[in-house]
Amino acid sequence: MSENGDSDHTDKEWLEHDCIKPMRPDPKVQVVMCDGSPVTDDHKEIKDNGQQKGYVALSDEERAKGFVRPVREAYVHVGKEAPKYPLRDLTESEKARYSCVGFVRYEKYPSGSDTIGKFWTQDDLNKVGKGCGVRTVMALPLAETYARDPSFYSGTFCVGCGTHLPVDEFLWEGTEERVGS
Ligand SMILES: [Zn+2]
Repeated sequence: MSENGDSDHTDKEWLEHDCIKPMRPDPKVQVVMCDGSPVTDDHKEIKDNGQQKGYVALSDEERAKGFVRPVREAYVHVGKEAPKYPLRDLTESEKARYSCVGFVRYEKYPSGSDTIGKFWTQDDLNKVGKGCGVRTVMALPLAETYARDPSFYSGTFCVGCGTHLPVDEFLWEGTEERVGS
């Protein structure tokens, strides 16, 4: 039992950082393929054009429960959002703990924020403002899934780059709103 306790503790520490956010679907929420068919095991296989074989979405019934954001079908690849606050180097204990995930700098948020701050990797810092600028349009069931649950997807496809990238590298077309927020 104590071994399980230890691993739970480590797991929790990891999950506290927003850059490590595995998809943990709620089993009570019904998920289908984009065309409404049952979810297939091989839908994540990548086709020649870089897209997945298929994409999952919330079911019609789930989406009918109401949207918490406008339904938007197009987004633009703009790159990562720049840090809002000054970055500092990692402390020795942070370095020891996070070197394996590549964190190099820490952005401390002002007191009163919902979260205390954000760890940055060099890779993420390199992507600040470095999107390809291309607009991607998605199918309506996917757009409605974002509108029902903005954090449903962790990554999305860019037709300019021909690959999947983290949602926070994109803005909804014509807005300053980050996809996934
Ligand atoms: Zn792109």
